[in-house]
Amino acid sequence: MQILNERKPLRLVKSTDNLEGSKMTGFTKTMVASDKYYKQVERYAQQIRRTSDVDEIISILEVVLSETKGLQLTDEVNAAQEQVQHAEQKIELLKGELEQLRELVHTDQMTGAFNRRGLDEIFIREAARADRSDVSLCVVMIDLDNFKQTNDSFGHQFGDNVLMHLVAVAKETLRPSDIISRYGGEEFVVLLPEISLEKAISVIHRLQRNLAKQSLQYSESQSVLVTFSAGVAVRDFGEHQNSAISRADQALYKAKHAGKNRVMPA
Ligand code: GH3
Ligand code: MG
Ligand code: MG
Repeated sequence: MQILNERKPLRLVKSTDNLEGSKMTGFTKTMVASDKYYKQVERYAQQIRRTSDVDEIISILEVVLSETKGLQLTDEVNAAQEQVQHAEQKIELLKGELEQLRELVHTDQMTGAFNRRGLDEIFIREAARADRSDVSLCVVMIDLDNFKQTNDSFGHQFGDNVLMHLVAVAKETLRPSDIISRYGGEEFVVLLPEISLEKAISVIHRLQRNLAKQSLQYSESQSVLVTFSAGVAVRDFGEHQNSAISRADQALYKAKHAGKNRVMPA
């Protein structure tokens, strides 16, 4: 039976550094003592316990993984290498689960658009980017026309299909960097970064045309044309989300009063 020297700490080798060289494998590697490594892992664990922010947890796990991947164990401690690989797999799994959770928390399950929480986060990010880079951010409030009537005539399930259809057509029409979120029942907020008011209005007109081209089939003999009204506001420098959305909403109100199925600037 082999007696392991318990006092001798496990040595980990970091392939990217060369502070403390080893010639064993023909190129220079840094020896990292296991006690240091485990202390570092414990520090990360403490950071994870302190936060309830999923994004922060994911980024801590990414750091742990990148540091673990940079490490290699010396040949004499193969068993420990297996343990590290096992831990690495568990962390990857946990990271994947957290990423799924983050998506669930930020997404409207029925339509696949972002939900209010998702919009809040993205708005903060996009607004900061717009202010920092001195670029525009257009905010569009969309409300389906006569949607109550759609539900009443064709049923609630068909109404749900209409909501899903709108989001699908919007995703086809908009750029990947544009954002569509479900703000309420049949109301959606679209964010269009780095675009002028005129261009934003023409993008929303294009969405209306694409929706008109793809009417939804209710039965073999009946298809339903979906229309919406929209208000567009260009966010002012430093303007809060609520204020920009409220201005877009007032423009939407004007669009409804002017006869629906139209787009109005704030
Ligand atoms: P307007 O043209 O003025 O916007 O009228 P409207 O009928 O679209 O608006 P109203 O606010 O009167 O009705 C909105 C309807 O949207 C009422 C509500 O039942 C329906 N709704 C809200 N959420 C959902 C949903 O998730 N699925 C379905 N099918 N209907 C929904
Ligand atoms: Mg409404
Ligand atoms: Mg409506």
